[in-house]
Amino acid sequence: MRIVFIGPPGAGKGTQAERLVETYHMAHLSTGDMLRAARDAKTEVGQKAEKYMSAGELVPDDIIVAIIAERLRQNDCRDGYLLDGFPRTIAQAEALDKMLAEQGTPLDVVLELKVPEEELFRRLAGRGRADDTPEVIRQRLVAYRKQTEPLLEYYGRCGLLKSIDGLGAVEEIFDRAQTVLDRLD
Ligand code: AMP
Repeated sequence: MRIVFIGPPGAGKGTQAERLVETYHMAHLSTGDMLRAARDAKTEVGQKAEKYMSAGELVPDDIIVAIIAERLRQNDCRDGYLLDGFPRTIAQAEALDKMLAEQGTPLDVVLELKVPEEELFRRLAGRGRADDTPEVIRQRLVAYRKQTEPLLEYYGRCGLLKSIDGLGAVEEIFDRAQTVLDRLD
């Protein structure tokens, strides 16, 4: 299965993503994790990305698209993957469409985890990651609203979007996701 998993920062996407990849045997492709690893290893990409990440802004599309293009060529992606945190802009979604069309491997579903904004801020403030100061959190929510939310319409138009309620216990939310994925043909 090839899945795009979309949701605002703080929606609990990481937790659900881990359970989903384990249950459905997919590679877990988190661009946030890849960028944090590159930043910590002080690679060229990591150093370029750092200033955007620490400001809560999106890293430029060309950097991200190059990372994903390379990652998708690796063997473990052949049996399916879950894209977590990518695409985040229309330009990234178009680049992904193009890559997948060339390979003849279309997406199966775009799963959206829906959480109201007040709840997100509350959760993010309690998370304590180094890039989680109130100003950075606010900026990340703004980036989501402006740059990533338009993807919901983009994927809605091609009939790939399925949304689930992200409020409730981890187990309940996971059940909702499973219900959607198990109904795909
Ligand atoms: P995340 O862990 O997915 O919240 O990502 C952490 C940070 O990495 C984001 O705030 C962005 O600065 C950057 N990032 C991750 N994925 C992307 C992406 N697809 N496009 C642009 N920036 C990204």
